[in-house]
Amino acid sequence: MNTIADNLAAVRAVISEAAARAGRNPADVELVAVTKTHPPDSVVEALAAGQYVFGESRVQEAKAKIPLVSGRARWHFIGHLQRNKIRQALALGFELLHGVDSLETAREVDRLTSETGVFPRVLLEVNVAGESSKFGFSPAKLREQLEELLSLGRLQIEGLMTIAPFAPEAESSRKYFVALRELRDQLQTEFRLPLPRLSMGMSGDYAVAVEEGATLVRVGTAIFGTRSGKAWKPSAESATFDD
Ligand SMILES: *Cc1c(COP(=O)(O)O)cnc(C)c1O
Repeated sequence: MNTIADNLAAVRAVISEAAARAGRNPADVELVAVTKTHPPDSVVEALAAGQYVFGESRVQEAKAKIPLVSGRARWHFIGHLQRNKIRQALALGFELLHGVDSLETAREVDRLTSETGVFPRVLLEVNVAGESSKFGFSPAKLREQLEELLSLGRLQIEGLMTIAPFAPEAESSRKYFVALRELRDQLQTEFRLPLPRLSMGMSGDYAVAVEEGATLVRVGTAIFGTRSGKAWKPSAESATFDD
């Protein structure tokens, strides 16, 4: 079986090759290693292999896991921010929130950080394909609400994020990644603001995302293996920790 270090090396190679095909610098693509459902031991193993940026998508799980991993790890929140969990998510000190997916959520993040003095870095999640099962701004809604989003003084809006519809073929994601990049380009011109970061691409399609301009790819399975489906909980691991 491949180790996490082997998998990381393979993923980094794929990113470099995809960047080269697109005439991009691979250093402009940040790999976010998605650790949801995986134990802190796996994070520690990835750290030892030189991976420092990690993504979690559930607040409760992140809250249990983050304190068990050394301070060298930097954490991104990549999931949907439930309204009643935003305060806890902010307290965990995530370096970047990828999934700010509505004006209401953005307002709440702004309100809560005005209490704590933080200026959170955020990405706005766009539901490019218009899937009813997914969170995110429709492109039209984003354009309509961007002025108000920008008026929320504490939010540092650094770019856009999307999750392509599930498909067995990586190529199926390309048109959604192109759409996100083009939307970003249009908004930058229309609103005269920089939106340098594009978070797009997961295990199945990150090479295509890099070809289309991703500056952040969120990769879990290709690094840590198949997920059990259940959130990691400290109780299940305590025996290992006590050894
Ligand atoms: C779980 C998750 C990923 C990683 O998915 P893989 O297919 O395992 O690489 C990426 N982005 C988000 C938002 C996720 O929830």
